[in-house]
Amino acid sequence: MSQLRSRAAVSPLRRAFAEAQPSLPAVDDLIAVERPEDPMHCLRPAAIVAAAAAFVAGFPGDVLYAVKCNPEPAVLRAVYEGGVRHFDCASAAEVALVRTLFADAQIHFMHPVKSRGAIREAWGRHRVADFVLDSADELAKILAETGAGAADGLGLVIRLALPKGTAAYDLSGKFGAAPDEAVELLRAARPHAARLGLSFHVGSQCLDPLAWRDAMELAGAVIRAAEVTLDVLDVGGGFPVAYPDIDPPPLGAFLAEIEASFERLALPSTRLWAEPGRALVAGGTSVVVQVLMRRGDALYVNDGVYGSLSDAGAPGFRFPVRLIRPEDGAPSATRQGFELFGPTCDSADRMRGPFYLPADTREGDWIELGQLGAYGACLRTAFNGFDRARLVEVRDGAMLETAGYALAA
Ligand SMILES: *Cc1c(COP(=O)(O)O)cnc(C)c1O
Repeated sequence: MSQLRSRAAVSPLRRAFAEAQPSLPAVDDLIAVERPEDPMHCLRPAAIVAAAAAFVAGFPGDVLYAVKCNPEPAVLRAVYEGGVRHFDCASAAEVALVRTLFADAQIHFMHPVKSRGAIREAWGRHRVADFVLDSADELAKILAETGAGAADGLGLVIRLALPKGTAAYDLSGKFGAAPDEAVELLRAARPHAARLGLSFHVGSQCLDPLAWRDAMELAGAVIRAAEVTLDVLDVGGGFPVAYPDIDPPPLGAFLAEIEASFERLALPSTRLWAEPGRALVAGGTSVVVQVLMRRGDALYVNDGVYGSLSDAGAPGFRFPVRLIRPEDGAPSATRQGFELFGPTCDSADRMRGPFYLPADTREGDWIELGQLGAYGACLRTAFNGFDRARLVEVRDGAMLETAGYALAA
């Protein structure tokens, strides 16, 4: 819910500017005209459409967008426009949002621990047919609350835990059944399921294609031990994008590894699913902040770790940056590393970077930070009263391109 609440706190900019243009405005033009004193979220629908279309074209199965990554309706529409018709939801609110936007979407409830009310509402009201689980208790809950079984089209997906990998964000600590439990759950679920699946998540921003090979080998061992017919193998999310100094292998390297691993498993009646989040939307949003004060190498700006920049705080992500100074007086050509401080009174509201900007960066300048479409705006809070932001759609491409998702020029 907090995702949806903070999303609502992002108010759309007056549409007048965009409507007066034959196409969407560029970020620089908007800043020059609007001179925004609140953080401005610049959505790049074309970049999201292109990334989604590239994934759908390259992946040999169904592509489920992981809604938690960015539930903004304009983002969901761009993902849909890119050809995605399946949505991985993790809460009743996400399910309701996707169903409101897309009558024909296939929604999959991929949180292994759900409330009874959320299960009832998803099945009874929003036509959600697939539910993930990693325990016998959750299986019993799903069967009881849906009152459904194989004859009603119920889909059941067992989430397999993976050993801790090398991804930037490990996701194995909280969810997933150990291999021997997964074997038991596959057997227990089979008679109740019109679709039986096995899923895993290698961890977010995973730079190594071989992580999928290892996970699929483990999945294969579980499937063989269970001796059941498997309808779906869900290879999860985790596909990486570029950040400064991080240049991941192209999308094709990941998809080729998945395809080769799948062939080795020899499961002719099994369909592949993937649940990308970050890969589809990271390049699709930037945030433009304004410099409120400069103190030496520190810039105090109007957004921070309690806003859209949480990954720049403790996780230490460095986002691509550029200075925007619309008036006369070109910025210095010399670059220097700065750290950023956010607007709240908490000393943890600090982003060490370093962020390389013109040496004469000063109060009143704007800074655009890119690659914030994933896990950026949706993590905003209202702490200290700094929850105002504006949302605009722009024609700019992603600030960093990842090979394979790029917006065709
Ligand atoms: C967060 C999450 C995803 C999306 O992960 P990305 O790293 O953003 O691709 C997919 N599936 C599940 C179950 C998740 O929790």
